[in-house]
Amino acid sequence: MRPEPFKIKMVEPIRLLPKEEREKKIAATGYNLFGLRSEDVFIDLLSDSGTGSMSNKQWSALMLGDESYAGASSFYKLEKAVQEILGFPYVLPTHQGRAAENVLHSVLVKEGDVVPGNTHFDTTKAHIEFRRATALDCTIEEAFNPTMIHPFKGNVDLEKLKSALNTYVPQNKVPFVLITVTCNSAGGQPVALSNIKAVKELCEEYQVPLFIDAARFAENAKFIQLREEGYRNKSVKEIVVEMFQYADGCTMSAKKDPLVNIGGFIAFRDSTLYQKCSVFAILFEGFLTYGGMSGRDMEALAAGLEEAINDDYLEYRLAQTSYLGEQLLKHNIPIVQPIGGHAVYVDALSLLPHIEREHLPAQSLAVELYIESGVRGVEIGTVLADRDPITRENRYPRLELVRLSIPRRVYTNNHMDWVVEGFQKVVEKKDQIRGLKFVYETPILRHFTAKFEKV
Ligand SMILES: *Cc1c(COP(=O)(O)O)cnc(C)c1O
Repeated sequence: MRPEPFKIKMVEPIRLLPKEEREKKIAATGYNLFGLRSEDVFIDLLSDSGTGSMSNKQWSALMLGDESYAGASSFYKLEKAVQEILGFPYVLPTHQGRAAENVLHSVLVKEGDVVPGNTHFDTTKAHIEFRRATALDCTIEEAFNPTMIHPFKGNVDLEKLKSALNTYVPQNKVPFVLITVTCNSAGGQPVALSNIKAVKELCEEYQVPLFIDAARFAENAKFIQLREEGYRNKSVKEIVVEMFQYADGCTMSAKKDPLVNIGGFIAFRDSTLYQKCSVFAILFEGFLTYGGMSGRDMEALAAGLEEAINDDYLEYRLAQTSYLGEQLLKHNIPIVQPIGGHAVYVDALSLLPHIEREHLPAQSLAVELYIESGVRGVEIGTVLADRDPITRENRYPRLELVRLSIPRRVYTNNHMDWVVEGFQKVVEKKDQIRGLKFVYETPILRHFTAKFEKV
């Protein structure tokens, strides 16, 4: 394997607390990993969101930030980068991805609407449900089988989508179709270009706009280059252009592939929609040329968008994720396959089959991993799935996973080896793990603040 395509100029020390301390710390949070202080975490794989390292170019770009209230040059730099890389003429900066969703959905989504797509990201789904609309999951069935190998498990099932469009378009209930690249909730799995194109054709047939949730657009493009017939000799840059040419716009959490710690935007092809969204952007985020961002953050983002599509960087990025996954498999830790782009997902139902669903096997596994190794992952299962908005019953998703998200350009493969050792220690004592139950939860997005106790 080739080494990292960068050298390290600044370091941040991390420390491993003794195991008894870790047990106390996690108990004090109510067994919620979001409640830990980062200084008590040894290797933090909670999220790849906003946790990446910026490059020397990005740090120097910060100094060029134009902090003018209106018309800042930093905005025009960002706008130009989005126009050149993604191909959309209109750009509204926002403070992060969910803010982009809030603005777009304020214009497009109304009560009773249905937004079909491949598994919607949690904040996206929450923004749709908050407006009393439905996020309809039309992902291919293969995505729900954690060990089935399929090169594009994030693909939209065209039959499911067609059937949804057939039902809801005549009722005027489909504001847009949304493709999330890569599909986070299905395991960081990519969507094929042929699938994006086919979805676009259906959208045209039914005259519904197509939006892309673009947080991991570059990793998706790299997977297309590696796995899809006909793209081997195209650069990621060319593939990105092709991916977005089928879309009417995108929402972006720039905290992911664009390599910044905070930021986001909405991009549009249509000036009317841009104008409608501008009203809400000003209401929620700020004036049109900064949204929720400072000038220096827009500078770093413009530079980050360029670096995100660099072939050498993406080669390294996907190789590191794949390294962690392969090492886990070698030690018989069940994971979702094929290995995704930004994270490895451990299958808690296979690892802890004795824990009933209501006792939250994936949450329990994530807690034990922290206790054994100081590694922080996160549950992607029942806790995250929230209750059904109408019946208020727990929703049991088909998979109970612990996600190990890898921050960009932050850890080496030695850190990945430590994570694998952590799982080995959990496996040794797995019969003693009893599960957890809720003692506190909020009505929406409960996973961030919920508290649990051991069963
Ligand atoms: C992170 C993310 C969002 C939300 O963005 P934030 O920046 O966290 O607000 C939306 N969609 C996807 C696919 C994401 O990964």
